[in-house]
Amino acid sequence: MKNTLLRYLLLMLVLFSSLMQLYSCDGKSGTDPDIPNEETPGGESPAFKRSVVVQNFVEYRNGNFPLIISVPHGGGESDNSFTVRTQENTADPEFATVRDMYTMELAHLIDSMLHARTGKYAHVVICRLRRTYVDMNRQRQYAVPQGSRQEGVYDLYHSRMQNTRNLVTIESGRGLVLDIHGHAHEIQQVELGYSLSRSELNMSDSELMNGNYASESSIYSLSKNNKLGKTFVEMLRGAYSFGNFLAARNVPCIPHSANPSPGTNGYFSGGYITTTYGSSGSGGGTVDAIQMEFDSTARSAEQRKDYASNVVDAILQFLDTNYQFK
Ligand SMILES: [Zn+2]
Repeated sequence: MKNTLLRYLLLMLVLFSSLMQLYSCDGKSGTDPDIPNEETPGGESPAFKRSVVVQNFVEYRNGNFPLIISVPHGGGESDNSFTVRTQENTADPEFATVRDMYTMELAHLIDSMLHARTGKYAHVVICRLRRTYVDMNRQRQYAVPQGSRQEGVYDLYHSRMQNTRNLVTIESGRGLVLDIHGHAHEIQQVELGYSLSRSELNMSDSELMNGNYASESSIYSLSKNNKLGKTFVEMLRGAYSFGNFLAARNVPCIPHSANPSPGTNGYFSGGYITTTYGSSGSGGGTVDAIQMEFDSTARSAEQRKDYASNVVDAILQFLDTNYQFK
């Protein structure tokens, strides 16, 4: 009873904040023409309506499914009143301004195909501003030049992520964040990041099981609580891992059973978003996160649709096999 009341109050709060954004003076809003609205007749909860809100370069598409898609580096928009990021004015130890081309397009396909298959919508957060002004996958101190006007863009993106994560937790009990990127490494494979470094992934299964690596990973919650009671390593790169479900659909990726470790090859292990919104550590909550770094083949105009289709199937199998939702 208490739980129902809490859910109701939170829903009211989210609806109210969405309304405020719809009517704020600098906000643009609209309905994605490619995605039909969904009305849920009857029931206790208010009818769900998909809307797309763009405010201060941050696009938010609301959802009713326990999946959050984050697209931090695909934006191509500029604002001449913003300060351009430099190594000097950010002191970012991993300074980069490369745009992850076609990740917005890929995320859009994943979003619409998921809806076509399930009748539900993922939550989607997209930064439309170029990475030359803000890097969403960094701590705030490195993300923007100190005191610059685009600090508000950074804060809005992360408040969207935080609020959505809280909403998914309340509504479904648990969930998954997929942080979508594009890499330029030579090997054409999707690099899945779990907040475990290359050298940690190069360890054997028994080494990974015997250390504190599960708690360090962004799928710690899943490792402790999954439908079939499987181990951390089975969730990370075994029979029940996202990588295995992708590989079963001929999507080249790492890690999975037949490709468990990067060795000395290029590999992105997951950045600030994966660490912040995943379930690592003692206060990590019940929403997991995986960084997905797509190779250039996967993002190409010729291949994008096929990859998105296989990714959606793998997501649904991964969630259905391993997660028990409210
Ligand atoms: Zn990126």
